[in-house]
Amino acid sequence: MKAFKSKFCPNCGSANIKWVNPQMWSIWQCGDCGYSGAVILEDGKMAEEIKKKYNDANKEK
Ligand SMILES: [Zn+2]
Repeated sequence: MKAFKSKFCPNCGSANIKWVNPQMWSIWQCGDCGYSGAVILEDGKMAEEIKKKYNDANKEK
């Protein structure tokens, strides 16, 4: 078990997610898919599933 919580993009499941700016701490931006918003995933299992789906969707394009 991991000791600290990770945060993930709800769109692509990437952990490459940051605050847009420190004054707007509730808005996150994903460095991989460009998602930005207040919704963030803290469930690693769910992030894995999203990542899989996202990768599959990208393959089909
Ligand atoms: Zn993303």
